[in-house]
Amino acid sequence: MKKYTVSVLLWLLFEAIAVTLWLMLDNLFYLFNFSYIGTCLALGTAFYAARLRHARTVVQFAVGLYMLVYLGILRGENMQIEGFWYYLFLGVFEAAVIHYVVAKILGPLFFGRGWCGYACWTAMVLDLLPFKTPRAPRLRRLGVVRYLVFALSLLFVGALFVLRVPNLESIMFWSFLAGNLLYYAVGIGLAFALRDNRAFCKYVCPVTVFLKPASYFSLLRVKNDTAKCVGCGVCKSVCPMDVDMTNNARNRRFGTECILCFSCIETCPKKALYL
Ligand code: SF4
Ligand code: SF4
Ligand code: SF4
Repeated sequence: MKKYTVSVLLWLLFEAIAVTLWLMLDNLFYLFNFSYIGTCLALGTAFYAARLRHARTVVQFAVGLYMLVYLGILRGENMQIEGFWYYLFLGVFEAAVIHYVVAKILGPLFFGRGWCGYACWTAMVLDLLPFKTPRAPRLRRLGVVRYLVFALSLLFVGALFVLRVPNLESIMFWSFLAGNLLYYAVGIGLAFALRDNRAFCKYVCPVTVFLKPASYFSLLRVKNDTAKCVGCGVCKSVCPMDVDMTNNARNRRFGTECILCFSCIETCPKKALYL
């Protein structure tokens, strides 16, 4: 794709979502919300493509803080996975349900794990830690933890409904705060223990259970011009997610882990990688 095509497509996609939800749900908030996120993503990817090095970090904070502080803390909307179950069980198509459908269930068909590279408020902090590229081999078996956390979140919210616990709104708010503090603590601890900023993403994060299947079919993905590639392996050495981008097959090693950070594309000495 041409240099700024991704940014334009992202902006158009989010504007389409913003206008559709605004008109469908008769709520101006959705126009503002998705326009803001789409504009941040489009500007960030455009600046990044223009080689402004910290553009991705700026987008991570612009979107991540908006969602964590404004939506989560000030508006009291639990955007974590338990918030998704909560609104789903209430039968309400808003807040976390819309967020999950757009960013984590259907959106990845277009932009893969772009959420993880540009918008996640957990990763915005983890990416500041010193281990940007993993210093040790991946512990594949540890990946089972994400399914346990996923099941626990479902059980937790399911139990609140089954036991008819009162004050669910308040419980969801406090679980959002507690859950985030726990995620940051575990994420930072794991990053230092395994010398890998993204260890939490690889082994613990329950959201990946939603993100990975659709990412497999993502329209946006890093491709390799095998006529140019000399197999030097530099690209793989800078990838924070251990992806084998020298293989163009969809089932390439850790292919559903790509967060579209573009580090490999920037680093390839032969300019063999592209979107
Ligand atoms: S894997 Fe989870 S914690 Fe990591 S960036 Fe994606 S959503 Fe955030
Ligand atoms: S850095 Fe470029 S040339 Fe080297 S293996 Fe990767 S894609 Fe091929
Ligand atoms: S380095 Fe390349 S393959 Fe790895 S996550 Fe970033 S864009 Fe994806």
